Amino acid sequence: MREARRHAQSRRRNRLAAVAVGAALLVIALAVIFGRGKGQETAEKTDVTVVDNSPGPSLPTETDTDTGSSEAPSEESAESSEEAAPSEETDEGEAEEDEEDPQFAYSDIFSSETPDRSTFAVDPSNTDWNYGPMGEKTIYLTFDDGPSYLTPQVLDILDQYGVKATFFVTAQNPEYFDYIADAYNRGHTIGLHSACHDYEQIYTSVDAYLADLAEIGQVVEDQIGYVPCFIRFPGGSSNTVSANYCEGIMTELTARVQEMGYQYWDWNTGTGDGEEVTAEQELEEVQVVETEDKTAVVLLAHDGELKESTVEALPGIIEYYQALGYVFRPLDRNAKVIHHTVFN
Ligand code: ZN
Repeated sequence: MREARRHAQSRRRNRLAAVAVGAALLVIALAVIFGRGKGQETAEKTDVTVVDNSPGPSLPTETDTDTGSSEAPSEESAESSEEAAPSEETDEGEAEEDEEDPQFAYSDIFSSETPDRSTFAVDPSNTDWNYGPMGEKTIYLTFDDGPSYLTPQVLDILDQYGVKATFFVTAQNPEYFDYIADAYNRGHTIGLHSACHDYEQIYTSVDAYLADLAEIGQVVEDQIGYVPCFIRFPGGSSNTVSANYCEGIMTELTARVQEMGYQYWDWNTGTGDGEEVTAEQELEEVQVVETEDKTAVVLLAHDGELKESTVEALPGIIEYYQALGYVFRPLDRNAKVIHHTVFN
């Protein structure tokens, strides 16, 4: 009996000792981690900021990947913006989420989900744009010139692949305006392209451009409830056609729209669907251009009238970038801003 008790006591002592040693090791480990974290903070500041600003980390708790495509209530987005408040200690924040939510997988951060859209309205006081690299290989599919009769097909393909994109819309086809709300409700970002899309009209003067911008802004507001801050200039900011109508107008406009709280996105890859091409040629075009290492690809495509070849090429384009490990995202305020050189 005594022997047994002694054994038990000794076992307890051993266990206590083990716990004490374990606790000491934990303290040391925490001190090392904490100390190293502090040390790296300044060195990694730039990278950390980019990652922190991304809407990713707050998303897994907010949006269910499976249903995210069809529902994107803005009230929920408002909540997530608070939760996404920038934190310097990304590692710890993620570790915590890991423990709290067993469903959470790290890859969820990088899946294509609806970002927080509560800050997408045009806002002159919000000039915090991302000109740095993205934290991971990211592709922004952008579709210009819609909505058109082709838009539903594009939306269905995007849904099939669970991909979110951006639509820079026009007011050329009022009968399809509903598709703007449809695209938005399916988790895509809506940007402003042009109401009339007539270079000769919009690039005649700064005032003419701004009047057209206000018009398409109103169309979009009627559909989604606010005027978005995302712009794409017809022809891109690098267009020289505008010089035929107004010397220096792109130089003026690129500055002016940003003062007003908008941001314009050009592109660094295109399907070449601006001209008459086949689906095969569009896919080839994408693959030829995608040779450099880009952390942020902004791909120009069109869902306007007669762009059947783009619809046809779209699955191949998506699969191509998926195979390269790219994550598809809709534009948001954390997206890398892509600007062309302005020539006029
Ligand atoms: Zn266009």
